[in-house]
Amino acid sequence: AYENPQKPMWLKVKPAGDHALEQEYIRLKETLRGLNLHTVCEEARCPNIGECWGGGTATIMLMGDTCTRGCRFCSIKTSKTPPPLDIEEPEKVSSAVAKWGLTYIVLTSVDRDDLVDGGASHLASTVKALKQKQPDLLVELLSPDYGGRLESVSLVVNSGLDVFAHNVETVSRLQHIVRDRRANYEQSLSVLEYAKSVNNQVFTKTSIMLGAGETHEEIYRTLQDLSKVGVDIVTFGQYLRPSKKQMKVEEWVPPEEFERWKSIGESLGFMYVASGPLVRSSYRAGEFFLESKIR
Ligand code: SF4
Ligand code: SF4
Repeated sequence: AYENPQKPMWLKVKPAGDHALEQEYIRLKETLRGLNLHTVCEEARCPNIGECWGGGTATIMLMGDTCTRGCRFCSIKTSKTPPPLDIEEPEKVSSAVAKWGLTYIVLTSVDRDDLVDGGASHLASTVKALKQKQPDLLVELLSPDYGGRLESVSLVVNSGLDVFAHNVETVSRLQHIVRDRRANYEQSLSVLEYAKSVNNQVFTKTSIMLGAGETHEEIYRTLQDLSKVGVDIVTFGQYLRPSKKQMKVEEWVPPEEFERWKSIGESLGFMYVASGPLVRSSYRAGEFFLESKIR
């Protein structure tokens, strides 16, 4: 990420590593060699890689590296006409992941508004292929909104995945400032609500970035809205500006504030809330998911 000189200390220091996590991280790093699998964790040089891989969780990106949208916090390449999908991707990716040795995979993707179904059938095929090759692998999909097309939501939710994640990203008032104009708050809420209604065995999850200029009241209202549509898991993280081309950070939210949102979220009845400055939607997702299921 772009090194803002005002970045506070709590974002610069990482706690000392745990030995067991480190061993697992090393094992995954070694088994990845030769698999021709590109992870978001490595490509984005994510600071959480030791903890996530150590816990058996990794994130990969599907449907190419070019998005049809241009959100103001995101550094992904944008084009109205990205290259066509690689129809062999579900097969290639699932074979590589099954050989790798993860316990939990997060599939994420660019948005493909150029495709009739927004890429839903491609994503669903990837989940199916993964589950076929490694039935005990837990699969989370960080899903697009498919322009609100509910048939697409239903296709991915019923593909066999364990967690359907779709990010509202920010509070209602800031949506048009933070996200592409084709995304909006109500659309994201309805996608999450519909996902739960078509298959209540699937857990739903969403993520909120803090530091974009939102107020406490607005965050609280967002949590209430998410609770109403049956969301199970919520994550909070600090917005970090990837480069000078993206929107500015309005506020560095201190760790205590993240702690507070975790307790508020839990008191509102969410099954699990992960909250911290460096928490990302996929941060230790496997461990959080297993923990929340035990509760
Ligand atoms: Fe980035 Fe997703 Fe927005 Fe595309 S839709 S610009 S990948 S955040
Ligand atoms: Fe990978 Fe996400 Fe964890 Fe970062 S937070 S290491 S991208 S799984």
